[in-house]
Amino acid sequence: IAPSAPSTDRYTKSAAAHARARKVMPGGVSSPVRAYKAVGREPVTVVSGQGACVTDIDGNEYVDYVCSYGPLILGHAAPEVSSALAKAAQKGTSFGMPTEAETVLAEKIVDAVPGVEVVRFVNSGTEAAMSAIRLARAASGKNNIIKCTGCYHGHTDSLLVSAGSAATTLGVPSSPGVPQSVTEHTLLVPFNDLDAVRAAMQEHGSDIAAMAVEPIAGNMGCVPPAEGYLQGLRDLCDEFGIYLLFDEVMTGFRVDYGGAQKLYGVTPDLVCLGKVVGGGLPCAAYGGKEEVMRQVAPDGAMYQAGTLSGNPLAMAAGTAMLDSLAADDFAVYAQLEATAATLEAGLREAAAEAGCPIYLTRVGSMLCPFFVDAEGDEVHNYADATATRTDRYAAFFGTMLDEGVMLAPAAFEAWFVSTAHDEQAISQTLAAARKAFAAAAA
Ligand code: PLP
Repeated sequence: IAPSAPSTDRYTKSAAAHARARKVMPGGVSSPVRAYKAVGREPVTVVSGQGACVTDIDGNEYVDYVCSYGPLILGHAAPEVSSALAKAAQKGTSFGMPTEAETVLAEKIVDAVPGVEVVRFVNSGTEAAMSAIRLARAASGKNNIIKCTGCYHGHTDSLLVSAGSAATTLGVPSSPGVPQSVTEHTLLVPFNDLDAVRAAMQEHGSDIAAMAVEPIAGNMGCVPPAEGYLQGLRDLCDEFGIYLLFDEVMTGFRVDYGGAQKLYGVTPDLVCLGKVVGGGLPCAAYGGKEEVMRQVAPDGAMYQAGTLSGNPLAMAAGTAMLDSLAADDFAVYAQLEATAATLEAGLREAAAEAGCPIYLTRVGSMLCPFFVDAEGDEVHNYADATATRTDRYAAFFGTMLDEGVMLAPAAFEAWFVSTAHDEQAISQTLAAARKAFAAAAA
């Protein structure tokens, strides 16, 4: 992508901060997407966040739809979470011993998420997925896993497999440093394609431990499951005796308090949680049916551990977050739905006015306007998503940034709406979007 010039010199301090950071960190960042390479811009360095907004080092303010890639469903520095954190910090930041705070949060998760009877805390979504896969293999005594192209389950070796297009192809590592011998046990199928899953199970069924899927694919934009897809996966897994693993790191507590599994009424055997569950702290979890989870050490032989797992700060933040989400009979979900619906309608109108074709998907407070080639084009899987116009997204992104709206610096990320996004934030976003769609269509 060719860099587009920022509209003003309002990023001077960010540019200097990035130059300094690049000397001591790869790309100057702690996670690659933050370097803005996919949109041809210099990254913005953030100093603070409050409610729906973030402020950069040059003093510019932005309405934020990155929301830390999902955790911040109550917005930045939510008072409930911040005060719980401050209290917890005064009592010590890590013990390496059991605390009651872990049980409190675990009980809330077990109550909320249908597929979770027993849960183990870890520190990242990557760890959750890695551990859940190890458990599926340990409990089944089988080696292979099925994964959908374009679904992301973190950067653990066996799940870091390139998005091949053909159904049921054997996995090829998508990064140097991952041995083929690890990914050869990862079978790829397109998202939303039950025939491909059946074919994979028929061919390799006797040695498949788990079918892993994001129930709403949130790492290729936002691609909802087709009608009957998740139930179809449940039925196929039952037929072939394979564990169904829902990676709800992004969707858990976001699209519904009980996750996508509650929303769509399909209960998996294993579940990964992250992001919202930790209230913005490094925290994730995996859980599932009791009989499977009892195979985790020390109840069982499947080894998995962590110095900072169940960290008291993360437990406090997660508990405060879940309490806020459950308050007033889960009222925040209706609020999020209303806000996101207004945003969706406004984006559709703005794109139409600008003559910029989009295919907009949304489930609750996750959404994505795909920049399709032509009106009527749709996105149901990774091949569809990658066929969209990333050049138009780059132009859209740059204009939004210059107009004070922070989006993810890559086309295939969901937008996240929080309870802090109020009318003013939405109308500022839509005013910017009218200009940005025009820039994208030009
Ligand atoms: N699984 C899903 C569905 C995710 O969206 C992500 C991160 O975006 C992960 C796993 C990895 O989580 P983490 O970045 O915390 O390792």
